[in-house]
Amino acid sequence: MRRILIAGNWKMHKGVGEAVELVDELLSIFSSPPSCEVAVMPPFTALHPVAGRLKGSFVKLGAQNVYWEDQGAFTGEISPSMLREIGCHYAIVGHSERRHIFGEPDQWVAKKAVALQKVGIIPIICVGERLEEREAGDAEGVVASQLEGSTQGVSWDPETLPVIAYEPVWAIGTGKTATPEIAQEMHVFIRGWLSENEGDGVASRVRILYGGSVKPENARGLLAQRDIDGALVGGASLKAQSFAGIIREGEDL
Ligand code: PEP
Repeated sequence: MRRILIAGNWKMHKGVGEAVELVDELLSIFSSPPSCEVAVMPPFTALHPVAGRLKGSFVKLGAQNVYWEDQGAFTGEISPSMLREIGCHYAIVGHSERRHIFGEPDQWVAKKAVALQKVGIIPIICVGERLEEREAGDAEGVVASQLEGSTQGVSWDPETLPVIAYEPVWAIGTGKTATPEIAQEMHVFIRGWLSENEGDGVASRVRILYGGSVKPENARGLLAQRDIDGALVGGASLKAQSFAGIIREGEDL
């Protein structure tokens, strides 16, 4: 049984005051915890204050990125143990913006995922094809190669079982959502890849999230698909009401 996970990636939005306001508002909407799991990924500067507000609540904390070394002369970077210390449960690795704007290769994504697991943080490993790759009929090839490269050395043990997020680049921040059928098709492909490479047990346990312009209006159709186990939400996670709307759509599935 895979529990639905709704995760909000705030990207480079929200200073400390706004971040705290957003989680306070989100928590005030729910009089009891929803049946699905919920996480928010604020920018680094807001992680600590947000962690304080989330203590004892149903919302888990995540980071948007990490570096794989534990400490040292790595100016501008944040280590897995620093994230652990302030209570991060998840961290995103290999988001398409990191891959395409900052040129992060698969090997880095894998190193980050492995380093997170060593301190007990669950990596959310993102994969997804660009529009031209889909149009060239290469979407599955691209995703398979990202999966192969981005999971080198990763552990599939239950304690830090990775989450995979399928985020077609053409659907991120564009308002163009993949149809539930297109998303489900790729999720089946990803689960098939996991089954072939890591075995049926792992394939049946790993949660595969969909990301790309998810909103309250389209969430149910996506989340109702058999192999879609949650959503990684960008824009719509920046307002408490719309994020809460998506969480509601993820309940009782
Ligand atoms: C994302 O950043 O992971 C994302 C899916 O963004 P959006 O929901 O805005 O498309």
